[in-house]
Amino acid sequence: MKAAPFAYHRPRSLAEALDLMAEHGEEGKALAGGQSLVPLMVLRLAQPAVLVDLADVPELQHRDGTRIGAMVTNAALERDGSGLPPVVAAALPHIGHFQIRNRGTIGGSLAHLDPAAEWPALALLLEARLTLRSRDRSERTLGAEEFMLGPLTTALAADELLTAVTFPEWPSGGRWGFAEVARRPGDFALAGAACTVVGGRRRVVVFATGALPQRVEDPSEIEATGDLHAPAAYRAAVATRLVERVLIQAGEQP
Ligand SMILES: Cc1cc2nc3c(=O)[nH]c(=O)nc-3n(C[C@H](O)[C@H](O)[C@H](O)COP(=O)(O)OP(=O)(O)OC[C@H]3O[C@@H](n4cnc5c(N)ncnc54)[C@H](O)[C@@H]3O)c2cc1C
Repeated sequence: MKAAPFAYHRPRSLAEALDLMAEHGEEGKALAGGQSLVPLMVLRLAQPAVLVDLADVPELQHRDGTRIGAMVTNAALERDGSGLPPVVAAALPHIGHFQIRNRGTIGGSLAHLDPAAEWPALALLLEARLTLRSRDRSERTLGAEEFMLGPLTTALAADELLTAVTFPEWPSGGRWGFAEVARRPGDFALAGAACTVVGGRRRVVVFATGALPQRVEDPSEIEATGDLHAPAAYRAAVATRLVERVLIQAGEQP
């Protein structure tokens, strides 16, 4: 199958990109690494009339410490994760295959918001701040919980771009764990868990268990939904074991 016809724009600045997003509204879609959007277009599950390719927008390409431009690729962060929380480095190799990580971006993953994806879980776990820009309204910064509304559904308006993701500084002495189970290396997780322990405060998140990554207070109460890849009971049982595993990695009593 081939994608439905679409117009293609390749803006050279953020201002130009935001103009195009404002001009085309619901008809337009940002193109980042294309690793989720292009397959959806080829299957005609997405049929944007206009693509706004962000590849040449310099303002989105850079990392400044823990502030990561939306177009920074997973591969770039895997090569140089210095200054980022170490749980990020542990999660990155699980995002598809290296070819996918070479193209796929942090912004694309968060804007796409697959419930089994690693970045949304990391954003929730680490209390990331997401910066959104549009031409006609002022910039806004949302917490991960405000940004993630449901599976494949975010707070981004049709004319808005995610421009950057900022993680808090990782403190010395912070502890963490990350684990997931996938059918094959490179597949989306069937269940995953991650935790941090910072200043005696323990934070645990599970993902690929339901509509969105979820914070877990009590591992014995994890609920999951099933789909064609795995039944609910299996996902819940695996997630429960993974929570124990990540807590042990972090030196905690599960
Ligand atoms: C075989 C395969 C296996 C994969 N396995 C995994 C996996 O295990 N874990 C995982 O997390 N992901 C996985 N992925 C998905 C991959 O990580 C994608 O790269 C990611 O989900 C989307 O990022 P992208 O940069 O390619 O975005 P695109 O596909 O270009 O865009 C995705 C969506 O986000 C929107 N968008 C992109 N950037 C912005 C922006 N800055 N502002 C507003 N909207 C924006 C687009 O309009 C589109 O709706 C896999 C993909 C494939 C093909």
